[in-house]
Amino acid sequence: MRFAPSPTGQVHVGNARTALFNWLFARQQGGTFILRIEDTDLERSEARYEAQLMEDIQWLGLDWDEGPDKGGPYPPYRQSDKGQVYLDHAERLIREGKAYPCFCSQQELERQREEAQAAQQPQIYPGTCRNIPPEEAVRRRQAGESCAIRLKIPERPIRFHDIVRGWVEFSNEVVSDLIIIRSSGVAVYNYVVVVDDAEMKITHVIRGDDHLSNTPKQVALYEALDWPVPEFAHLSTILGPDRERLSKRHGATSLANFREMGVLPEALMNYMALLGWAPTGGEREVFSPTELVQEFDLTRVTPSPAVFDFEKLYWLNRHYIKESAPERVAALAEPILLRALELSEPTSEISAWLAHITAALVHSVNKLDELPERAASVLHFYPVAAIGATENQEILAAETSQTVLAAVTAKLEAEAEPLEAAHFKAILKEVQKETGIKGPALFHPVRIALTGQQSGPEFDRLVPLMEEGARLTLSKSVPAVRERLAAFMTILQTR
Ligand code: GLU
Repeated sequence: MRFAPSPTGQVHVGNARTALFNWLFARQQGGTFILRIEDTDLERSEARYEAQLMEDIQWLGLDWDEGPDKGGPYPPYRQSDKGQVYLDHAERLIREGKAYPCFCSQQELERQREEAQAAQQPQIYPGTCRNIPPEEAVRRRQAGESCAIRLKIPERPIRFHDIVRGWVEFSNEVVSDLIIIRSSGVAVYNYVVVVDDAEMKITHVIRGDDHLSNTPKQVALYEALDWPVPEFAHLSTILGPDRERLSKRHGATSLANFREMGVLPEALMNYMALLGWAPTGGEREVFSPTELVQEFDLTRVTPSPAVFDFEKLYWLNRHYIKESAPERVAALAEPILLRALELSEPTSEISAWLAHITAALVHSVNKLDELPERAASVLHFYPVAAIGATENQEILAAETSQTVLAAVTAKLEAEAEPLEAAHFKAILKEVQKETGIKGPALFHPVRIALTGQQSGPEFDRLVPLMEEGARLTLSKSVPAVRERLAAFMTILQTR
């Protein structure tokens, strides 16, 4: 099995699913999983994309047995490092009468292309150079006439087996004699891929169905070269929720996007495995990577397009966040929270504080990038906005609120810092006893004063996080509970 990406951009879910299905099948069957970089399009391929794609699929949890970084028995694993071998096989095909030099000029081919387009016909090479006697062709080449090399497509239908689609047949009338080596000497994708797959002893070619129409050309090449034709499995297109082809328009689509959003790799792997595959019975949806390797069944992959359901992915992510060790979730959340705090180099104490924030709030998020918003009441303090907010007016204007806030503020003045959560609770109890005010009338104004909002995490969780943050940031960006209340009261009274 192989995953053969072209390093021309980010890895998005379509390609990532191809990589995943190859990997699952290889791991399950005890096969070899090869990473091959198809960088023959030198203008669009970039080394940074190659590095990024390796990092991305590694992040997803896929490992490969052979590849440009690892080597292996069939090097090179980067197409641009290969060259002569493609030319050698092409010359062999000419000698065997299965391919021929084509001397047609660019202008002539262009004219044929335009004619075909005008007649709304597929462009089929008319075979102009097919019948040039071999000796004459040799002479013209030796005389230095520029030529491409074309494969002779047999005059019969081309059939191949596809694990997802069953037997597929293409009439030879829609497949023209294809160029395998351009006049510039550069080998063409459909040919290169066959030489590489054969040399690397690939038994199963699992890839996107955008390559389905290339397959008859490749099968013709295997046959001409006398090489065994591999099994194919063409995976369906992935659609967005609106049933249009999944694209950036639908939001996050690349592995890098999902990673930045705080989607856990095992959640994405689990979700992507369900894009076109379902276990027998079809009910079960949660599969760890190991379970996927056991349960995945390539023969059950459906040819119908798969619709990407973001909500289901987030639901799975929530599940995996809950299952993960708190230290791991904290490590994944830390960069996201640091960005929100505009901090770059955290001390170990700040890291510990962020881990506490994560542990306190992560159970209510779908993805880790929701944490800064959840934690906003701890990370930030905007009393002016809280006092000005329309939804807070009624509560702040109530006489009971003034009483509660004044009483809590007075009691806090007398408290030592840092304030313990239990202590804060005790203060609220005392205020309740002394003023007779309870329930929402007691809690809402206090919550607004501390966080700007009427609802949110419990005081038991908030108070320690605020106190710890105040100590670590020296109250500059994260004030302590007492400072919050005092500042809030000052602004409230001057209005
Ligand atoms: N390099 C091709 C692509 O990225 C893959 C070709 C193949 O899998 O055969 O689409």
